Amino acid sequence: MSDQLDFRIKKYNLDKENKKGEFVLYWVQTGLRIDYNFALKLAIKESNRLNLPLLVYFALKENKYANLRQYAFLKQGILELKKNLRQIGANFLVQKVDSFSDILKVAKRASVLIADFGYLRGQRYWRSFLIKKLDLPVFLVENDTFAPVILVAKNKVPYAFLIKKKILSFIPKLSDRFELESLRNKTELFNQSNSEIEQQFKMLRLDKKVFKTKFIGGETQACQILSEFIFKKLVYYKKFRSSPDKDFQSNLSPYLHFGFISPVKIVYEVLKNYSIDDENVQAFFNELLVWRELARNFVYFERNYDNWKGLPFWSIKTLDDHKNDKRDYVYSLEELEEGKTHDKYWNACQKEMLLTGKMHNYMRMYWAKKVIEWSLNWRQAYKWLVYLNDKYELDGRDPNGYLGIAWSFGCFDRPWRERKIFGKVRYMNEKGLERKFDMEKYLQKIAELEKNS
Ligand SMILES: Cc1cc2nc3c(=O)[nH]c(=O)nc-3n(C[C@H](O)[C@H](O)[C@H](O)COP(=O)(O)OP(=O)(O)OC[C@H]3O[C@@H](n4cnc5c(N)ncnc54)[C@H](O)[C@@H]3O)c2cc1C
Repeated sequence: MSDQLDFRIKKYNLDKENKKGEFVLYWVQTGLRIDYNFALKLAIKESNRLNLPLLVYFALKENKYANLRQYAFLKQGILELKKNLRQIGANFLVQKVDSFSDILKVAKRASVLIADFGYLRGQRYWRSFLIKKLDLPVFLVENDTFAPVILVAKNKVPYAFLIKKKILSFIPKLSDRFELESLRNKTELFNQSNSEIEQQFKMLRLDKKVFKTKFIGGETQACQILSEFIFKKLVYYKKFRSSPDKDFQSNLSPYLHFGFISPVKIVYEVLKNYSIDDENVQAFFNELLVWRELARNFVYFERNYDNWKGLPFWSIKTLDDHKNDKRDYVYSLEELEEGKTHDKYWNACQKEMLLTGKMHNYMRMYWAKKVIEWSLNWRQAYKWLVYLNDKYELDGRDPNGYLGIAWSFGCFDRPWRERKIFGKVRYMNEKGLERKFDMEKYLQKIAELEKNS
């Protein structure tokens, strides 16, 4: 049974050595946790092998839509990580940087660099840059998937069902145990206080209009949310996960996005309490393992993962065939952003996102479909959806978001009966919502949120 580490590591510059290295460096970006952190596990092993102290380094950089919501959540998790790393004897340094190239200065002093593997364009660019510029071994560790992307498929997978069996086949093959060696060299290199970390965060230029929400960041909170899900919600997951008027989703996506929890941990915690044959477990794993890992496959193999050029030929053609169809409603980006359309359900879900940073899954599909319907130019609708999703969702800027938006335009789906504007791309309407769910209750839920905001 694999201990899950070796097959997650990609090794570079093995012929290079930095004998003057002062420490083992773990550049942490997407694995902000201790438990089931395979990159940390490797970093500790290397530190023990080389008898060098371990430095865990977080480069704090503004992203495209840097806002208070995301960075307050991140800061909570970072402060907890600092405390936990100090407990095991590792050094932790948070440094505000203007560019990830600043990591080079720190990395040049290391004897070996370990980093979380990245799937998105920018993440991959900075890793290749460091590998090229550094004269020392670099190890990238796949820390964000259950099954490593490259082992699941060698190219872009067009439908979820094609990888389902392969991904699920990893469950019995992998060990459900995760243990860290104890760190032997505990030399203190830095002793950054919480207020010094806060200072680094204060240097960020954040959009404060996108305010903090009820979600609290960090590994402890992620674990609490997981146990609440396992013990109170999972039993109803299949029946109610799609109901926006209810709360039976796990709410783990912001925690997964920031790496406060590992999908591997989630799988094995679920299986400690449920059989894999349970229908709710199967429905949950279909989202967590199949769709989530399909999203990693998508962004890894499709360079146009965040724009219309990544769509299949049939959906581009059919949307173009209908580009001149009359639109009953057309809205500007500002009207959409403020949730000022004629459609009460759409406005409600847009408000849910603005107020909580997490729109319900079913409404995300409706939300995206309507923006296509109300835009004069479907290519522009694509851009607007990426913008709104990445700016307001706490789990935004994630492969799942790029997959979800691509899906709304027909990707990973099949052609349906042809109709106006959408052509053969699947269409959704408010009647469907009303037929399936208690939409009045959903509207009340959002009205309550607005009242208390
Ligand atoms: C237009 C659109 C935009 C989306 N944007 C995002 C986004 O920015 N970030 C994001 O994480 N998800 C996104 N999704 C996917 C999905 O809506 C969310 O992952 C889910 O609602 C998160 O809530 P949860 O953790 O409570 O989900 P649960 O139902 O509890 O699912 C557990 C986990 O499975 C994964 N998952 C669930 N549904 C999907 C899915 N459809 N595709 C891929 N993975 C899935 C997530 O990691 C989620 O945390 C989007 C979907 C659509 C249609």
